[in-house]
Amino acid sequence: MNRATAPLYRGDRVACPVCGGRFDRFRRYASEGSGRRYLMCPSCGSLGRHRLDWLFLCERTNLLHEPIRLLHVAPEPGLSRRFQALETVDYVSADYDSTLASERMDIRNIDYPNESFDAIVCNHVLEHVDDDRTALSELARVLKRGGWALLQVPIDPSSDETYDDPTLTSAKERERAFGQYDHVRVYAKDYPSRLSEAGFEVDVIGYAQEFTSEEISRMGLDRLEVIHLARKP
Ligand SMILES: [Zn+2]
Repeated sequence: MNRATAPLYRGDRVACPVCGGRFDRFRRYASEGSGRRYLMCPSCGSLGRHRLDWLFLCERTNLLHEPIRLLHVAPEPGLSRRFQALETVDYVSADYDSTLASERMDIRNIDYPNESFDAIVCNHVLEHVDDDRTALSELARVLKRGGWALLQVPIDPSSDETYDDPTLTSAKERERAFGQYDHVRVYAKDYPSRLSEAGFEVDVIGYAQEFTSEEISRMGLDRLEVIHLARKP
């Protein structure tokens, strides 16, 4: 646990499934980019959507049960530590420009042969990538047949069609149009069809709805997060 903040959160009312920590409460965190508010784990830094992802991956994929080679793009630190601790996971982390990852990668041009990975986790990345269709076809290319990819993006559930506009290039314009200075589009209800175009079969799962309100509060889960699990047939 982070020694500076640990005493402030000592307690047992909430529990983080990612790091296993128990606390009096989660840390309230407001994103500088979007102004959105999140419940952050005081120890591992996970947010509600990461805790939901972790529970989903453990329960509904082969993550814990079979040896897999996993590509983790733009690794979230809490999830990254858990993946690396699994003896059955051959772990590769990659990012465009972060030192948290073990290698540098432009997902529009991935320097790996076809069918290199059994699984991919690439969350909240595509909304930053100008040519997301190329990125998706690259991710599909390096995934093995029968493999899965967790490809979470922020989605506007009130909108039918994904909105982008490549003429908006300044941080201010992008913040106004897409809700965050470094986003290049707002995905909508048509997101699964973009995944299908890249060759994936997609399961859209309202996984948070399977938990009771007590569980959602105790683990600080993001109840609006809908899981998009893509599979390469
Ligand atoms: Zn945690």
